Amino acid sequence: MLRNDQLDQWDHDHFFHPSTHLAQFARGELKNRIVTGGEGVYIHDREGNRLLDAFAGLYCVNIGYGRQEVAEAIAAQAKELAYYHSYVGHGTEASVTLAKMVIDRAPENMSRVYFGLSGSDANETNVKLIWYYNNILGRPEKKKIISRWRGYHGSGLMTGSLTGLDLFHKKFDLPLSQVLHTEAPYYFRRDDLSMSEADFVAHCANELEAMIEREGADTIAAFIGEPVLGTGGIVPPPAGYWAAIQTVLKKHDILLVADEVVTGFGRLGTMMGSTHYGIEPDIITIAKGLTSAYAPLSGSIISDKVWKVLEQGTDEYGAIGHGWTYSAHPIGAAAGVANLKLIDSLGLVTNAGETGAYLNARMRDALADHRNVGDVRGEGMLCAVELVEDKDNRVFFDPAAKIGPSIAAALLKRGVIARAMPQGDILGFAPPLCLSREEADTIIAATSDAVKEVCG
Ligand code: PMP
Repeated sequence: MLRNDQLDQWDHDHFFHPSTHLAQFARGELKNRIVTGGEGVYIHDREGNRLLDAFAGLYCVNIGYGRQEVAEAIAAQAKELAYYHSYVGHGTEASVTLAKMVIDRAPENMSRVYFGLSGSDANETNVKLIWYYNNILGRPEKKKIISRWRGYHGSGLMTGSLTGLDLFHKKFDLPLSQVLHTEAPYYFRRDDLSMSEADFVAHCANELEAMIEREGADTIAAFIGEPVLGTGGIVPPPAGYWAAIQTVLKKHDILLVADEVVTGFGRLGTMMGSTHYGIEPDIITIAKGLTSAYAPLSGSIISDKVWKVLEQGTDEYGAIGHGWTYSAHPIGAAAGVANLKLIDSLGLVTNAGETGAYLNARMRDALADHRNVGDVRGEGMLCAVELVEDKDNRVFFDPAAKIGPSIAAALLKRGVIARAMPQGDILGFAPPLCLSREEADTIIAATSDAVKEVCG
């Protein structure tokens, strides 16, 4: 074991932490945390803290920490065959089995799964396949992708462009020109406070349609959206939103990509978020919940409609020019198979629905009346608390006051990890799907105390 001071020194000198204020870290203003273990909804760190992880890592450890069944499946696969590629018809029992298990859990009319490593590369795959699709169909101009402000779809060049958060664009020369952003379905933050929810939905659909008409439908290839906005603030859509959006997309022959990196495999209390909201996607992005992050693995689930065109394309042009060395990595696939089995055998989808509803209802009871709590919202095992300076007039805090991060820090002092979402004073909760009611009560009590500590 390394000495703590040695580890800290190496961390400080050599480790480039993602999504981190680099200068603050270098100056020692940001304390590191070396995580050493975990079980259930708890993680442990080197200093002996046991913390309730109410964000499941990055909303990915859906089965909870320390599941031996998955660890053993990974070890068995590594011993038998740690790697073989999946190009030109190769595969392993684990990758083929996982493909079958994913299609069995997907909405109807889904045909194939392309496996990647991360949510970002899966969305990158999706855009390439959509461009290929329109080229094969003889529509070379139909290439732009519409995303939403506050959407999160990754950190690559294209996927960082699809992401509708300023921080991911600023000084990176993004977004790329093929990407457009439309209104987020964020009723609490609507401009016109007098607008009803139904009018706001119509407004979102009208904005989308106006954009399509302005650009020309023959230039718009696809629309991408998360069933519930995640990193942009954990915002379930207003009732009727997805139906209204799909009507516009169908009218203009625009493909729909449901980014289910967060919602896939149970988080909303249904196996897929698309089913929850009646979304009929042409492509679905999956990652996090696919392996509960026990190994890196993602996927693009392709509908019959898109698949047929891809096949036709290869008959004309030869093998599809898109492959990662680690596509369908056997260790990731073995983790995926064991993870999906465990989700079923532990009844985690049902628990996400039931305990998630309990978490949301009790969080609302505990906090909704506080004068600085503007909104408590959620769906399934996703919950958010949004803080405002003046509730009656919906005046937000000055971001410089760092109210969200201060409350997250106050929660941490109480042994609970929540996430201060990157844009706005929003506390996000996305616990492992195995959360119990007692653990939900612990999160709520700590949140209530933390809000009082910071806001009075
Ligand atoms: N899509 C969504 C909806 C996500 O939440 C994320 C990650 N938070 C991604 C894509 C990107 O996934 P990754 O970080 O694995 O690249």
